[in-house]
Amino acid sequence: MKYFSANFIFPITSAPKKNGTVAVSDDGTVMEVFSFRHADAVYYDGIITPGFVNTHCHLELSHLKDQVAAQKGMASFIGELVPKRNSFSETEIKNAIANAESEMIKNGIVAVGGISNTNHTFEQKAKQNLFYHTFIELFDLGAEKADEIFSREKNLKSQISNLKSSLSPHAPYTVSPALFTIIDNLQQEITCIHNQESKAEDDLFKNRTGDLFDAFSKLGIALNWIKAGKTSVHYSLPQMLQSKKIQLVHNTYTGAEDLQFIKSKTAGIKSKIYLCTCPNANLYIENKLPDYNLLRMSGFKMTIGTDSLASNYSLSILDEMKTIQKNYPEIEFAELLQWATINGAEFLGIDNFFGSIEQGKKCGLNLIANLDTEKLSINEKTSVQKII
Ligand SMILES: [Zn+2]
Repeated sequence: MKYFSANFIFPITSAPKKNGTVAVSDDGTVMEVFSFRHADAVYYDGIITPGFVNTHCHLELSHLKDQVAAQKGMASFIGELVPKRNSFSETEIKNAIANAESEMIKNGIVAVGGISNTNHTFEQKAKQNLFYHTFIELFDLGAEKADEIFSREKNLKSQISNLKSSLSPHAPYTVSPALFTIIDNLQQEITCIHNQESKAEDDLFKNRTGDLFDAFSKLGIALNWIKAGKTSVHYSLPQMLQSKKIQLVHNTYTGAEDLQFIKSKTAGIKSKIYLCTCPNANLYIENKLPDYNLLRMSGFKMTIGTDSLASNYSLSILDEMKTIQKNYPEIEFAELLQWATINGAEFLGIDNFFGSIEQGKKCGLNLIANLDTEKLSINEKTSVQKII
């Protein structure tokens, strides 16, 4: 048995324990949480939290760190990323994936919701250094190939059948009604979609104008299922409702009316919608953050993702929390910790093992140091260290 104590223990699902202690068995299972400093405890300056859950990460794009220009908007980002992602050798891609995974582990991440378009990450995931739920991502750009794309991606999914996985539509602007229907009819436990990530997506759905509309037009892709009028979530969400849980990722341009619409479509169904935020990627691509107060007021649970190293400088949930805290000081760190742990664990369906420090869980333990332990607020210098 090992005992870890700190200024505060944050079990997440119960009140913080000042000078508390966590007792952990040799295999990492939490045995007990004490509200006092145990005589045998190693004492840390800082707070102890459960391991972090990263609910949105494209691990397979790790080789594209510093390869795509920042703050040029979504159309430019996709335009640069697509040709570049295939211009590296498989060895380079796989080495970058292994390094990125090590970075996540070092940064106290214990579970990941990962997007895959290829099988590049599967070997690494099979080692089970972290818990992964893989979202095999589908898009057809309305090419009347929905069936063909579905069977191809179902085949990709079968290559990872020993680990948890789902099929997920990429984004409203890349998935036709035919493909949405096929995915929805699977009635999956969980799925996700990139939602209202860019201004160009808004322009495309509201007015059939803007950078994405222009970029696709140039490629001869008409996206003719998009009728000018309402924002993209009005198109996508009604075609996803057969899934039990849906994670909407980004929500950078999601407004009050959109949230009202989401509520009206899911009224009465508890914990169906999770809103994932990836603030550092939003700043990287669009230089804009979601309206967090609006999202929080909606009552939907928030989760945190790092997106990929193609659009981020690190794979660190703490770094994402720092960005939110800096821009929204009114949001308490304790609330952000819920986004970073239990909410994501709940969405991924792994809250029986992860997301909170409770007896019987193997949630991992992080030490958050160099923070204001009086006000319980984080700053630029705050660090994370994986204890177990
Ligand atoms: Zn993404």
